[in-house]
Amino acid sequence: MRLRNIPGAREEMLVNPFIVQDPARLRGCWRGEFGNDRPVRIEIGMGKGQFLLTLAQRNPDVNFVGIEKYSSVLLRALTKQEELQLPNLRLIRYDAETIDEVFGEGEVDRIYLNFSDPWPKDRHAKRRLTSDRFLERYAKILAPDGRVEFKTDNIDLFEYSLSEAEACGWTLAYVTRDLHGTPEAADNVTTEYEDRFSAKGNPICKMVITR
Ligand code: SAM
Repeated sequence: MRLRNIPGAREEMLVNPFIVQDPARLRGCWRGEFGNDRPVRIEIGMGKGQFLLTLAQRNPDVNFVGIEKYSSVLLRALTKQEELQLPNLRLIRYDAETIDEVFGEGEVDRIYLNFSDPWPKDRHAKRRLTSDRFLERYAKILAPDGRVEFKTDNIDLFEYSLSEAEACGWTLAYVTRDLHGTPEAADNVTTEYEDRFSAKGNPICKMVITR
């Protein structure tokens, strides 16, 4: 029986070795958690984890941390990780609002944001994971040569994200409004939402930003 079907599974998550409890205690020492000196890359809003689990399988020399706000969703990623037992992947249930309390200054090599919630109303703009408030936090935890990679099919959110990044002094290192039509698509690892939206014919936008 799958973990998600077991009564009390949410409680079980609390004692699972792949789920880091109280992640703020690892601030500044995530490499110690993995027992190596390799780079740490994180995905904020990992959902069911297809993207990060694939990356972790393909890149055993990189440490990955998946962050998801809701335990019901995180449980789906955990089920896959329990099957794969990837030593270079940890998961945390956490709201990225205070992500800089979980990772120390310059501790993160790369931040992935995939199909983040658009929060279309202007009055909710600050909740977008690419708003200036979040970009400020990312700047604190990113290594000097680190980067943020963002994908979405939502063109309004994409244009907003480009202008927030530029206004906050980030460099637009890569921008496309049709990722699947570029040569880079060959190396692209897709997410659950990306598969769903590109199957409907929506072009996928991607930006990579650096400090
Ligand atoms: N990245 C996945 C994909 O592309 O298939 C899931 C995309 S889904 C639209 C957005 C996910 O981000 C949801 O699972 C949501 O719970 C999570 N999320 C939204 N805001 C978050 C936050 N502040 N901190 C952590 N996770 C968040």
